[in-house]
Amino acid sequence: MKKIELHVHLDGSIRPTTISELLDISLEEAIKLSTVSNKTNSLKEYLDKFDIPLKIMQTKENLVRVSKELAEDLQKDNVIYAEIRFAPNKHLEQGLTLDEIITSILTGLKEVPMKTNLILCMMRGDSFAENLEVIKYAKKYLGQGVVGIDLAGNEAQYPVNDYKELFDIAKKEDIPFTIHAGEADGALSIINAINLGAKRIGHGVHAIESEEALNLIKEKDIALEVCPKSNLDTNMYNKLDNHPIKKLFDKRIKVTLNTDNRTVSNITLNETYEELKDTFKFTDEDLIIMNKNAIECAFISKLEKQELLNVLIK
Ligand SMILES: [Zn+2]
Repeated sequence: MKKIELHVHLDGSIRPTTISELLDISLEEAIKLSTVSNKTNSLKEYLDKFDIPLKIMQTKENLVRVSKELAEDLQKDNVIYAEIRFAPNKHLEQGLTLDEIITSILTGLKEVPMKTNLILCMMRGDSFAENLEVIKYAKKYLGQGVVGIDLAGNEAQYPVNDYKELFDIAKKEDIPFTIHAGEADGALSIINAINLGAKRIGHGVHAIESEEALNLIKEKDIALEVCPKSNLDTNMYNKLDNHPIKKLFDKRIKVTLNTDNRTVSNITLNETYEELKDTFKFTDEDLIIMNKNAIECAFISKLEKQELLNVLIK
């Protein structure tokens, strides 16, 4: 099945073989350091798995390489369009400029013949000035490989409303945005994110606990970027059967299906689809609806959406 993926982090999706090679450590060690083995206890612990991949993402050459490799991995999953996200400020340790970081990643992606765009992540816990830079660069590259921004990081510790001023600026600059919300925090976080102007919500699964959140999502036609395996890895649900994706889908919420972090969660999009079919008896038609949802809410033009739709249902 052809697929769209809207929620995949570059730094969480670096091949362990590449980490092993570039850090000169064994593959076993690379897997141990970058992949959650059993269940982690929290989002915080899950986020610690990004330290190692970020170590190698500090040079142009490595950024080109890991971007190209992710695009190749997306192709193996039959992805026809992906919005790949990363936090530009995480790659400044060895003197790269934000221009060099963004153009290196775009160069790597262009080496693979598939349609991709970038979402630049502001980070919870970063300063106002640091996150403002992300908005500035998103504006600079908007329509030239960058299509929007996001807010990622530890949601429980940094509530979304702390970032209102930044999202007001993004709105004024006409930069579309998605926000990680309703993952480590509850439904109110989703409501706040939508009220700030988010067009999509990263995860958003806690909406199932609030009629108010569900109504607002429907009213504003918001899509949820659902990443079931990631939610299991951060211990939100102890098994897939308890994940609310089916309930959300049955309530006609615009659900899209994603991996979040291919390496950290040790998952491909193909495996995600298979597990969802096995556990919830989703049909191919259901999965096509999720992909149509993804096209509808992608940060691209109407014409591009129509082109993708033609390829999806061909
Ligand atoms: Zn995410």
